[in-house]
Amino acid sequence: MMRLLFRTLTIMASTLSLVYSSNAQTNVQSGVRYDRIVVRNATVIDGNGTPAIGPFDIVIQGNTIVDMVPLDPVAVKSGTAVRPEGDREIDATGKYVLPGLINAHGHVHEARGGIAQPLEYELSLWLACGITTVRDVGSDTKKTLALRSRSDAGDIAAPRFLVYARYSFKPIPRTTAAARKRVRDLKEMGVDGLKLFGLDRDIMEAVLDEAHKLNLGIAHHAGVEETNAWDDIRFGTTSIEHWYGIPDAAIADGVQSFPATYNYNDEVDRFRYAGHLWREANSERLMGVLDGMVAAGVAWIPTLDIYEASRDLQRAQGQPWFKDYLHPTLEQYFKPDPANHGSYFLGWTSTDETHWKENYRIWMATLREFERRGGTIGVGEDAGFIYQMYGFGLLRELELHQEAGFHPIKVIQHATVNNARILGREEMLGRIRVGFRADLIVVNGNPLEDLKVLYPTGVQRIIDGVAKRSGGIEWTLKDGIPYHAPSMLKRAGAIVAEARRAISGQ
Ligand SMILES: [Zn+2]
Repeated sequence: MMRLLFRTLTIMASTLSLVYSSNAQTNVQSGVRYDRIVVRNATVIDGNGTPAIGPFDIVIQGNTIVDMVPLDPVAVKSGTAVRPEGDREIDATGKYVLPGLINAHGHVHEARGGIAQPLEYELSLWLACGITTVRDVGSDTKKTLALRSRSDAGDIAAPRFLVYARYSFKPIPRTTAAARKRVRDLKEMGVDGLKLFGLDRDIMEAVLDEAHKLNLGIAHHAGVEETNAWDDIRFGTTSIEHWYGIPDAAIADGVQSFPATYNYNDEVDRFRYAGHLWREANSERLMGVLDGMVAAGVAWIPTLDIYEASRDLQRAQGQPWFKDYLHPTLEQYFKPDPANHGSYFLGWTSTDETHWKENYRIWMATLREFERRGGTIGVGEDAGFIYQMYGFGLLRELELHQEAGFHPIKVIQHATVNNARILGREEMLGRIRVGFRADLIVVNGNPLEDLKVLYPTGVQRIIDGVAKRSGGIEWTLKDGIPYHAPSMLKRAGAIVAEARRAISGQ
């Protein structure tokens, strides 16, 4: 109570001294926490679905946005504007400031296919791509909980983490009593929620009942399994990950027309016939499922990016950032090989791609209809699988939401306010708003004009008659700590170069 009072008084005192200090330093160091930073002259795109507005001086005290001072552009030009002061300043003139992006479906990876991969590589890419929060939905739970603490303390250059622990690990709980105990044990460890897949109905019901009592969120990878979206609706899932369980709940005859030789464990089979799933859903039944999800408050994280190789393998394999930033462990893991999850491109045909293109058309139309009916759509990348790199995957996901028909303002809302709501953090994350956490990104360009300006590798533009590389995120602030995004990308590149040298034996 005293501390809170003290903090309130400090904030009041500092907002009262609104004198522009010309000696405030602009040499902001990446990864250093300052007492008070002012992001100057920022055009803001908030996460709440409203258009750009500005300019503002955004005042950050510690880890919180404490003031947003609207500026009169004429007074700014003539130097007569009253400006708040800070220890350090970030000049956002001509730039756009957005809430930090939230990745609601990420995996902390320290190895791929049994080969170690430095954690710093993934963390650097996430920050370089403007991601300030990651909901981890399956990793080494104990390690990621420790990482969450280090990130919260500001001890490591990383996004903040919410840990949705993988529920199914050995020994697999076989009874509802054992299932309930597993949920309690995970809660005891300190997880924020659970990641479920492949559960039988009675077990799923028990798990969700126990999770609700303990206030744990539920992310359900709704695969083709005994349960489908109707069970998520009935038992109260927080978010459906990916999509399968939604069309699967709308098949008129109750089961997809699989060929007799189909085996779910064969990933070529699984992903090939997943490409037929949307077309087999009955549209009238599908609308019923969407309405059920809306009524029950079940959100949807479609992860459109992670299936894109299925509709266009060549595009997926030829992404330009692979040249400098694809870690050799990922390169190895992505190679078609039944041993690696998602590396199923063995005999992948033009017919498969054609099915998947149709699959995407129905899927995207369904997403649009879901939001029209009041549903909540979030954004996640699921990178580290199927040719998707950390961070880049989330930015590609934003482009695919635009392709689905959403206005870029809505796309940004999906990645900020909607994700914050899904994570149960809507009172502190996802907005550029006084009292919210100082999680924001300063972008060299207008993402409403072109979402591609968010890519850390930038875009080609004609500037003063010359073709130049521009764009990219300049600063990613998490908890008020500024990270210089181009430097984070450079670090990831150095890690990759070092790993490649080690392999080639130089
Ligand atoms: Zn995943």
